[in-house]
Amino acid sequence: MSQSQEAFQPWEAGGPRDVRASGKEPAGAEPARADGRKTFALALDIGGTKIAAGVVAGDGTIAAQARRSMPVPRPASPASPASPASPASPDPDGAGPASARAAGVDAEEVFAVVQDCLDEALAAARMRPDEMTGLGCGCSGPMDWPVGEVSPLNIPAWRGFPLRARLRDAYPGGPVLIHNDAVALAAGEHWMGEGRGVRNMLAVTVSTGVGGGLVLGGRLLHGTSGNAGHIGHMVVEADGPPCPCGGRGCLEALASGPRTVAWAIGEGWVPSGDQPANGRVLAASARAGDGVARRALARAGAAVGAGLASCASLLDLEAAVVAGGFAQSGPIFWDALSASFDRHTGLAFTRRMQIRRSSDPSRIALRGAGAFILAPERYAWEG
Ligand SMILES: [Zn+2]
Repeated sequence: MSQSQEAFQPWEAGGPRDVRASGKEPAGAEPARADGRKTFALALDIGGTKIAAGVVAGDGTIAAQARRSMPVPRPASPASPASPASPASPDPDGAGPASARAAGVDAEEVFAVVQDCLDEALAAARMRPDEMTGLGCGCSGPMDWPVGEVSPLNIPAWRGFPLRARLRDAYPGGPVLIHNDAVALAAGEHWMGEGRGVRNMLAVTVSTGVGGGLVLGGRLLHGTSGNAGHIGHMVVEADGPPCPCGGRGCLEALASGPRTVAWAIGEGWVPSGDQPANGRVLAASARAGDGVARRALARAGAAVGAGLASCASLLDLEAAVVAGGFAQSGPIFWDALSASFDRHTGLAFTRRMQIRRSSDPSRIALRGAGAFILAPERYAWEG
């Protein structure tokens, strides 16, 4: 996700409504072990285009981290058809995972890169696997939760891949917990990010897909199948445009990077020069003043604002933290989001919900994966 910082222009003017720089409670770092030594966890963040691993300490610091790109297709391999968007992948430019469309990449090849990335993080921290309390992982969905068999839409080599079992075999001794990547982001934002000190919050990723995770009463909420907080398939426009999930009018159908780009193209937008038609280029085009691109970003922002208004009403939240490429794109998206949220919230308790921009989503997602292990009373689960 750190690609999002590189891919998008820095924050310009305008911004999340009611951003509260102060007023956060202390982070509430986890205590050290009884013997006084710090605890550490291996953390893993697997998206459609990249893999990040880290050694996270009990106080939330990242002792070391490593990154890998998803294995790319061998030149001789025929390209497989483009995959639909992941429900929660934080792919920053909303363009889809070109590098993961490999027909010639097999499941073991991807797992070998994951293991290599984890081992590099351990080596960089000068620590051994048996010094880790456990391993927490956020992975793009869908997945069989809590079993941890993953079928990320953007990683075609993995279909029903027993990621949790394989990680347990490779790094035995402690618990291995796997959840949706947007849920890891929610845990991280609550533990060490923009949601610190908040009891009831939602984290949302608006990117290749639209995903989310929920913290209620100070604890991560999982739901029946691990999909609690999955705002991407909440209906924000009855009988609206078709969604990759098979429904209509879902937030993802209106606000994801690929859907927003497709809408803009349908309205006559063309990327300048030989640039690709993706969310990053669309956002740049909007900033440069292109009318259709501006309307496209505003349409996405308005849909997110409406979705957040409904969440505020349903869940009586204190804050929502928004991450992903469009969240980095500047005031066109945010102004529309904020205006839409205002338009759709009439009650005092809904209007009070603060909307914040994720400040460092790639590191926060890694910390969130670590939190599954390091702060189990708030973020772990049985299974
Ligand atoms: Zn849907």
